[in-house]
Amino acid sequence: MTSSSTQTKVQQALVVGDEVVVVWGDGHESYYPGCPLRKACSCASCKGERHLFGRATLPTLAPLRPEAFVPAAVSLVGNYGLKVTWVDGHDHGIYDLRELRASCPCDACAARSD
Ligand SMILES: [Zn+2]
Ligand SMILES: [Zn+2]
Repeated sequence: MTSSSTQTKVQQALVVGDEVVVVWGDGHESYYPGCPLRKACSCASCKGERHLFGRATLPTLAPLRPEAFVPAAVSLVGNYGLKVTWVDGHDHGIYDLRELRASCPCDACAARSD
């Protein structure tokens, strides 16, 4: 009865204010504030090229302007990812749906993962 596939399926994804809202296949709604979401961007320009140095490098985030933390649009990538376009034009980050679901900031999910 624990079908995890619906939990990582996206019914709907949209931007509301400065949050990305995901409605999952099981009906659960997640609200991701733009700021931590942008900071979690795993694209090469945000995180650097790990393979060049062969060691974990700290994110070399240049100071971002406030609009960098405001999502402009979201779109699904295949059935595994969610791409967020930010107001400053950055759109290289694809968020893995499983990781997104696992990091849902709502009280119920936060209680479960601790
Ligand atoms: Zn990025
Ligand atoms: Zn949740």
